[in-house]
Amino acid sequence: MKFARENSQIKEYNDSEDTWTILRMILWSTDYLAGKGVENSRLDSEWLLAYALDTDRLQLYLQYDRPLSPEEREAFKPLLRRRARREPIQYILGRTSFRELELLTDKRVLIPRPETEILVEEVLNWALYRPEGLGKVLDIGTGSGAIAISLAVEGSCNRIIATDVSPDALEVAKENACRHGKSEKLDFRQGRLFDVLEEDDKFDIVVSNPPYVEEENRINLEPEINQWEPSQALFAGEDGLDVIRSLISGSPEFLLPGGLLALEIGMTQDDHVVELIRETESFEPASVRLDLNGRPRVVMAQRI
Ligand code: SAM
Ligand code: GLN
Repeated sequence: MKFARENSQIKEYNDSEDTWTILRMILWSTDYLAGKGVENSRLDSEWLLAYALDTDRLQLYLQYDRPLSPEEREAFKPLLRRRARREPIQYILGRTSFRELELLTDKRVLIPRPETEILVEEVLNWALYRPEGLGKVLDIGTGSGAIAISLAVEGSCNRIIATDVSPDALEVAKENACRHGKSEKLDFRQGRLFDVLEEDDKFDIVVSNPPYVEEENRINLEPEINQWEPSQALFAGEDGLDVIRSLISGSPEFLLPGGLLALEIGMTQDDHVVELIRETESFEPASVRLDLNGRPRVVMAQRI
């Protein structure tokens, strides 16, 4: 029923006698998507129409009163329908911006977030005045490869091992590394946490944006996240700390003296995470960095 209704609504613009100019189509789809609960419906309509016409948003404005051909309207329709079902725009367009990179993104990977750009920035800053730069890096739960590839592009490093439990995610990460010419620097491995390492593997940096959402928060998330992004990229037990706990207890063994542990965390987890780090007695006191909304987001600690 739901889809039948959606189809008949979409049909309205096909069957109408009036001319469908670019602007009219944008206005119509803005309302349509807003009615489906899409937050930035104007912007998303513009992105999708630009994508359907194989152009950019600026071009839409330069020709806003140009009528769309039936073929162009047909190309736009399925994209609009996908967004109406709350599929994230980044999956429909197949790409996301992350720092200096454009990354391929589809439903096999979590969409890289602006918060994670701060995690990367902190790691780069930490390494800035070290003669060896980033040195040897381990990125756990690499997803699209956002962190690992950014570090390879923006920093000087010897080698980065990037892991994930999800073979699907690693496929995307490998493709992204290849597109940015960093395949040689990056060693992708499939497995849980530290399982994929040799005992004598030692790193200057262990970085991770692990899953950290509390199980009970599942129902509060927007459909774009809840229904479309991979569950194992998001949820980590009742308090959201299951993966973080194992990361903190496992990392001292694999960090060189003076090496850095850098984690993205949920906005209410800072005290708990700082305490978990202290309890290992293996790190200097941890520091916390806020995100752009002023919420605790990154925890860093140096191996004694
Ligand atoms: N690093 C990417 C980013 O920042 O955009 C993806 C982060 S996503 C929040 C977490 C990733 O960790 C997912 O790709 C998930 O498959 C992976 N993951 C979950 N549990 C894991 C585990 N125990 N060991 C390794 N990877 C894990
Ligand atoms: N920031 C993501 C969200 O709540 C969660 C990512 C994660 O668990 N690392 O939408």
